[in-house]
Amino acid sequence: MRYANAKLTLRTLERHRDVLLGVKIRLSRNIAGGNDMAALRLAREAADAAGLPVMVHIGDTHSPLPEILAMLRKGDVITHAFHGRNQGILDGRGRALPEVVHALAQGVLLDVGHGRGSFSWKVMEAAMRQNLLPGTISSDVHQFNVAGPVFDLATTLSKFLHLGLTLDQVIERATILLARAFRFPHQPGTLQPGAVADVAVFDLVEGDFEFPESYVSAAEPEKRIGHRKLVPVATVKDGKLYGSAGDSGGTRGMKDVSKRKKGPGAGSTGAFRGAMNGELGLAAEDANKPMTTYDVPI
Ligand SMILES: [Zn+2]
Repeated sequence: MRYANAKLTLRTLERHRDVLLGVKIRLSRNIAGGNDMAALRLAREAADAAGLPVMVHIGDTHSPLPEILAMLRKGDVITHAFHGRNQGILDGRGRALPEVVHALAQGVLLDVGHGRGSFSWKVMEAAMRQNLLPGTISSDVHQFNVAGPVFDLATTLSKFLHLGLTLDQVIERATILLARAFRFPHQPGTLQPGAVADVAVFDLVEGDFEFPESYVSAAEPEKRIGHRKLVPVATVKDGKLYGSAGDSGGTRGMKDVSKRKKGPGAGSTGAFRGAMNGELGLAAEDANKPMTTYDVPI
Protein backbone atom coordinates (compact mmCIF):
# COMPACT_ATOMS: atom_id res chain seq x y z
CA MET A 1 0.00 0.00 0.00
CA ARG A 2 2.93 2.35 0.57
CA TYR A 3 3.34 2.60 -3.22
CA ALA A 4 -0.33 3.39 -3.86
CA ASN A 5 -0.66 7.15 -4.14
CA ALA A 6 -3.78 8.79 -5.53
CA LYS A 7 -2.18 12.22 -5.94
CA LEU A 8 0.78 10.91 -7.98
CA THR A 9 -1.59 8.77 -10.03
CA LEU A 10 -3.67 11.84 -10.81
CA ARG A 11 -0.58 13.83 -11.76
CA THR A 12 0.49 11.08 -14.16
CA LEU A 13 -3.01 10.88 -15.65
CA GLU A 14 -3.04 14.62 -16.25
CA ARG A 15 0.42 14.63 -17.84
CA HIS A 16 -0.41 11.84 -20.25
CA ARG A 17 -4.07 12.33 -21.04
CA ASP A 18 -3.39 11.54 -24.71
CA VAL A 19 -2.54 7.91 -23.96
CA LEU A 20 -3.99 7.11 -20.53
CA LEU A 21 -7.58 5.93 -20.57
CA GLY A 22 -8.35 5.16 -16.94
CA VAL A 23 -7.08 3.58 -13.74
CA LYS A 24 -6.73 -0.18 -13.55
CA ILE A 25 -6.56 -1.76 -10.13
CA ARG A 26 -5.53 -5.38 -9.66
CA LEU A 27 -7.43 -6.68 -6.68
CA SER A 28 -6.60 -10.39 -6.58
CA ARG A 29 -5.36 -11.64 -3.25
CA ASN A 30 -1.91 -12.58 -4.64
CA ILE A 31 -1.40 -8.91 -5.57
CA ALA A 32 -3.45 -6.80 -3.15
CA GLY A 33 -3.55 -9.17 -0.19
CA GLY A 34 -6.15 -7.92 2.28
CA ASN A 35 -5.84 -4.33 1.05
CA ASP A 36 -8.16 -4.60 -1.95
CA MET A 37 -10.82 -2.19 -0.72
CA ALA A 38 -8.29 0.39 0.53
CA ALA A 39 -6.50 0.24 -2.83
CA LEU A 40 -9.77 0.50 -4.73
CA ARG A 41 -10.72 3.62 -2.78
CA LEU A 42 -7.44 5.26 -3.85
CA ALA A 43 -7.99 4.23 -7.47
CA ARG A 44 -11.52 5.64 -7.30
CA GLU A 45 -10.19 8.91 -5.90
CA ALA A 46 -7.59 9.34 -8.67
CA ALA A 47 -9.95 8.29 -11.48
CA ASP A 48 -12.75 10.57 -10.25
CA ALA A 49 -10.40 13.53 -10.01
CA ALA A 50 -9.28 12.88 -13.59
CA GLY A 51 -12.81 12.15 -14.86
CA LEU A 52 -11.74 8.72 -16.12
CA PRO A 53 -13.13 5.21 -15.50
CA VAL A 54 -11.85 2.61 -13.07
CA MET A 55 -11.09 -0.88 -14.36
CA VAL A 56 -11.11 -3.54 -11.65
CA HIS A 57 -9.20 -6.79 -12.07
CA ILE A 58 -11.24 -9.39 -10.19
CA GLY A 59 -10.79 -13.04 -9.26
CA ASP A 60 -9.63 -14.61 -5.99
CA THR A 61 -10.08 -11.35 -4.12
CA HIS A 62 -9.92 -11.07 -0.34
CA SER A 63 -13.18 -9.10 -0.28
CA PRO A 64 -16.42 -10.51 -1.67
CA LEU A 65 -17.16 -9.32 -5.20
CA PRO A 66 -20.40 -7.52 -4.17
CA GLU A 67 -18.36 -5.21 -1.90
CA ILE A 68 -16.09 -4.35 -4.80
CA LEU A 69 -19.03 -3.80 -7.16
CA ALA A 70 -20.59 -1.36 -4.70
CA MET A 71 -17.65 0.96 -5.41
CA LEU A 72 -18.25 1.00 -9.18
CA ARG A 73 -20.45 3.23 -11.28
CA LYS A 74 -21.47 3.92 -14.86
CA GLY A 75 -18.53 3.69 -17.26
CA ASP A 76 -16.33 1.58 -14.97
CA VAL A 77 -15.15 -1.81 -16.21
CA ILE A 78 -14.83 -5.24 -14.58
CA THR A 79 -12.06 -7.12 -16.35
CA HIS A 80 -11.22 -10.83 -16.21
CA ALA A 81 -14.98 -10.96 -15.67
CA PHE A 82 -15.47 -14.56 -16.82
CA HIS A 83 -12.79 -16.29 -14.76
CA GLY A 84 -13.52 -19.63 -13.13
CA ARG A 85 -11.92 -18.98 -9.73
CA ASN A 86 -13.27 -17.68 -6.41
CA GLN A 87 -15.25 -14.44 -6.16
CA GLY A 88 -16.65 -14.63 -9.68
CA ILE A 89 -19.77 -13.12 -11.24
CA LEU A 90 -21.81 -16.32 -10.70
CA ASP A 91 -22.90 -17.99 -7.47
CA GLY A 92 -22.12 -21.61 -6.56
CA ARG A 93 -25.00 -22.81 -8.73
CA GLY A 94 -23.99 -20.85 -11.79
CA ARG A 95 -26.54 -18.06 -11.37
CA ALA A 96 -25.56 -14.43 -11.91
CA LEU A 97 -25.05 -12.57 -8.64
CA PRO A 98 -27.81 -9.97 -8.23
CA GLU A 99 -25.12 -7.37 -7.51
CA VAL A 100 -23.56 -8.09 -10.92
CA VAL A 101 -26.92 -7.69 -12.66
CA HIS A 102 -27.45 -4.43 -10.76
CA ALA A 103 -23.97 -3.12 -11.66
CA LEU A 104 -24.57 -3.82 -15.37
CA ALA A 105 -27.93 -2.05 -15.18
CA GLN A 106 -26.07 0.96 -13.76
CA GLY A 107 -23.76 1.04 -16.82
CA VAL A 108 -20.76 -0.92 -15.52
CA LEU A 109 -19.19 -2.99 -18.31
CA LEU A 110 -17.82 -6.53 -18.35
CA ASP A 111 -14.51 -7.03 -20.14
CA VAL A 112 -13.04 -10.42 -21.05
CA GLY A 113 -9.30 -9.99 -20.30
CA HIS A 114 -8.78 -13.65 -21.25
CA GLY A 115 -5.23 -14.01 -19.94
CA ARG A 116 -3.67 -17.11 -18.53
CA GLY A 117 -6.24 -17.51 -15.76
CA SER A 118 -9.44 -15.73 -16.70
CA PHE A 119 -11.38 -17.45 -19.45
CA SER A 120 -13.60 -20.33 -18.38
CA TRP A 121 -15.85 -22.00 -20.94
CA LYS A 122 -18.35 -22.99 -18.22
CA VAL A 123 -18.56 -19.49 -16.74
CA MET A 124 -18.74 -17.89 -20.17
CA GLU A 125 -21.57 -20.15 -21.31
CA ALA A 126 -23.55 -19.81 -18.06
CA ALA A 127 -23.14 -16.03 -18.17
CA MET A 128 -24.28 -15.81 -21.78
CA ARG A 129 -27.35 -17.94 -21.06
CA GLN A 130 -28.29 -15.27 -18.51
CA ASN A 131 -27.60 -12.48 -20.95
CA LEU A 132 -24.40 -11.34 -19.26
CA LEU A 133 -22.44 -10.42 -22.37
CA PRO A 134 -19.00 -8.83 -22.39
CA GLY A 135 -19.09 -5.15 -23.34
CA THR A 136 -15.55 -5.44 -24.66
CA ILE A 137 -13.45 -8.45 -25.71
CA SER A 138 -9.74 -8.32 -24.90
CA SER A 139 -7.04 -10.94 -24.90
CA ASP A 140 -4.71 -9.78 -22.07
CA VAL A 141 -1.96 -11.38 -24.14
CA HIS A 142 1.46 -11.43 -22.46
CA GLN A 143 4.61 -13.50 -22.30
CA PHE A 144 3.05 -16.23 -20.18
CA ASN A 145 0.08 -16.93 -22.46
CA VAL A 146 1.15 -15.98 -25.97
CA ALA A 147 2.00 -19.63 -26.67
CA GLY A 148 -1.46 -20.58 -25.30
CA PRO A 149 -4.12 -20.48 -24.12
CA VAL A 150 -4.49 -16.93 -25.50
CA PHE A 151 -2.20 -16.85 -28.58
CA ASP A 152 -3.60 -13.52 -29.79
CA LEU A 153 -6.68 -11.30 -29.92
CA ALA A 154 -7.95 -12.92 -33.13
CA THR A 155 -8.11 -16.29 -31.35
CA THR A 156 -9.95 -14.77 -28.39
CA LEU A 157 -12.46 -13.19 -30.78
CA SER A 158 -12.87 -16.53 -32.57
CA LYS A 159 -13.82 -18.17 -29.25
CA PHE A 160 -16.78 -15.80 -29.08
CA LEU A 161 -17.87 -16.82 -32.57
CA HIS A 162 -17.85 -20.36 -31.22
CA LEU A 163 -19.93 -19.21 -28.22
CA GLY A 164 -22.63 -18.01 -30.58
CA LEU A 165 -22.08 -14.27 -30.93
CA THR A 166 -22.46 -13.02 -34.49
CA LEU A 167 -19.44 -11.73 -36.39
CA ASP A 168 -20.74 -8.17 -35.97
CA GLN A 169 -21.22 -8.64 -32.22
CA VAL A 170 -17.67 -9.96 -31.88
CA ILE A 171 -15.97 -7.29 -33.97
CA GLU A 172 -17.81 -4.35 -32.43
CA ARG A 173 -16.65 -5.48 -28.99
CA ALA A 174 -13.02 -5.09 -30.07
CA THR A 175 -13.50 -1.92 -32.12
CA ILE A 176 -16.26 0.65 -31.83
CA LEU A 177 -17.65 -0.42 -28.44
CA LEU A 178 -14.14 -0.61 -27.04
CA ALA A 179 -13.28 2.85 -28.39
CA ARG A 180 -16.46 4.23 -26.82
CA ALA A 181 -15.97 2.46 -23.49
CA PHE A 182 -12.50 3.89 -23.05
CA ARG A 183 -13.20 7.19 -24.81
CA PHE A 184 -10.20 6.79 -27.07
CA PRO A 185 -9.06 10.08 -28.58
CA HIS A 186 -9.15 10.38 -32.40
CA GLN A 187 -12.16 8.04 -32.72
CA PRO A 188 -10.57 4.75 -33.69
CA GLY A 189 -12.66 1.65 -34.18
CA THR A 190 -14.63 2.78 -37.21
CA LEU A 191 -14.18 2.79 -40.97
CA GLN A 192 -16.13 6.04 -41.38
CA PRO A 193 -14.64 8.54 -43.85
CA GLY A 194 -12.33 10.90 -41.98
CA ALA A 195 -11.49 8.37 -39.24
CA VAL A 196 -7.91 7.36 -38.46
CA ALA A 197 -6.90 4.75 -41.06
CA ASP A 198 -5.96 2.01 -38.59
CA VAL A 199 -7.34 -1.21 -40.00
CA ALA A 200 -6.78 -4.89 -39.32
CA VAL A 201 -7.82 -7.17 -42.17
CA PHE A 202 -8.84 -10.75 -41.45
CA ASP A 203 -9.82 -13.87 -43.27
CA LEU A 204 -12.64 -15.80 -41.66
CA VAL A 205 -11.39 -19.34 -42.13
CA GLU A 206 -13.45 -22.49 -41.77
CA GLY A 207 -12.03 -25.68 -40.29
CA ASP A 208 -11.75 -27.44 -36.95
CA PHE A 209 -9.77 -25.39 -34.46
CA GLU A 210 -8.87 -26.33 -30.89
CA PHE A 211 -9.76 -23.50 -28.49
CA PRO A 212 -8.39 -23.98 -24.94
CA GLU A 213 -9.69 -22.12 -21.90
CA SER A 214 -7.43 -20.63 -19.23
CA TYR A 215 -5.69 -22.68 -16.58
CA VAL A 216 -7.72 -22.91 -13.39
CA SER A 217 -5.91 -24.39 -10.39
CA ALA A 218 -4.94 -28.00 -11.03
CA ALA A 219 -7.87 -28.76 -13.29
CA GLU A 220 -7.11 -29.64 -16.88
CA PRO A 221 -8.24 -26.74 -19.08
CA GLU A 222 -11.20 -27.58 -21.27
CA LYS A 223 -10.75 -27.39 -25.00
CA ARG A 224 -13.51 -26.81 -27.50
CA ILE A 225 -13.41 -27.38 -31.21
CA GLY A 226 -14.53 -24.28 -33.08
CA HIS A 227 -15.23 -24.21 -36.77
CA ARG A 228 -14.49 -20.61 -37.66
CA LYS A 229 -11.37 -18.61 -36.98
CA LEU A 230 -10.36 -15.06 -37.70
CA VAL A 231 -6.90 -15.03 -39.24
CA PRO A 232 -5.10 -11.68 -39.59
CA VAL A 233 -3.79 -11.05 -43.09
CA ALA A 234 -2.78 -7.38 -43.12
CA THR A 235 -2.49 -4.26 -40.96
CA VAL A 236 -2.94 -0.64 -41.98
CA LYS A 237 -1.60 2.02 -39.60
CA ASP A 238 -2.22 5.68 -40.36
CA GLY A 239 -3.07 4.69 -43.91
CA LYS A 240 0.14 2.72 -44.50
CA LEU A 241 0.06 -1.01 -45.20
CA TYR A 242 2.41 -3.10 -43.04
CA GLY A 243 3.30 -6.57 -44.32
CA SER A 244 1.02 -9.52 -44.17
CA ALA A 245 0.59 -11.97 -41.32
CA GLY A 246 -0.38 -14.65 -43.82
CA ASP A 247 -1.53 -18.12 -42.85
CA SER A 248 1.36 -19.06 -40.56
CA GLY A 249 1.25 -15.85 -38.53
CA GLY A 250 -2.48 -15.93 -38.10
CA THR A 251 -2.62 -19.42 -36.71
CA ARG A 252 0.63 -19.19 -34.76
CA GLY A 253 0.82 -21.98 -32.24
CA MET A 254 -2.80 -22.96 -32.85
CA LYS A 255 -3.57 -26.54 -33.49
CA ASP A 256 -5.72 -26.87 -36.57
CA VAL A 257 -7.26 -30.28 -36.24
CA SER A 258 -9.18 -29.94 -39.47
CA LYS A 259 -9.01 -32.73 -42.00
CA ARG A 260 -10.31 -30.36 -44.62
CA LYS A 261 -8.11 -28.88 -47.26
CA LYS A 262 -6.86 -25.38 -46.51
CA GLY A 263 -5.96 -22.48 -48.70
CA PRO A 264 -7.74 -19.96 -50.86
CA GLY A 265 -10.93 -21.37 -52.20
CA ALA A 266 -10.83 -24.37 -49.87
CA GLY A 267 -11.67 -23.13 -46.41
CA SER A 268 -11.83 -19.39 -46.74
CA THR A 269 -15.18 -17.67 -46.59
CA GLY A 270 -13.71 -14.46 -47.93
CA ALA A 271 -11.97 -11.53 -46.37
CA PHE A 272 -13.53 -9.65 -43.52
CA ARG A 273 -12.53 -6.08 -42.98
CA GLY A 274 -12.79 -4.33 -39.66
CA ALA A 275 -11.04 -1.50 -37.94
CA MET A 276 -9.32 -2.76 -34.87
CA ASN A 277 -7.06 -1.06 -32.48
CA GLY A 278 -5.45 -3.95 -30.74
CA GLU A 279 -5.50 -4.36 -27.01
CA LEU A 280 -6.95 -2.13 -24.35
CA GLY A 281 -4.67 0.84 -24.02
CA LEU A 282 -2.06 -0.64 -26.31
CA ALA A 283 -1.78 1.62 -29.32
CA ALA A 284 -1.25 -0.06 -32.66
CA GLU A 285 2.19 1.51 -33.07
CA ASP A 286 3.26 -0.14 -29.84
CA ALA A 287 2.07 -3.58 -30.86
CA ASN A 288 5.53 -4.82 -31.80
CA LYS A 289 7.35 -3.39 -28.82
CA PRO A 290 7.84 -5.44 -25.65
CA MET A 291 5.02 -4.78 -23.23
CA THR A 292 6.15 -2.86 -20.20
CA THR A 293 3.40 -4.17 -17.97
CA TYR A 294 1.86 -7.57 -17.72
CA ASP A 295 -0.24 -9.60 -15.38
CA VAL A 296 1.38 -11.95 -12.94
CA PRO A 297 0.52 -15.43 -14.18
CA ILE A 298 -2.25 -16.90 -12.13
ZN1 LIG B 1 -5.54 -7.80 -14.98
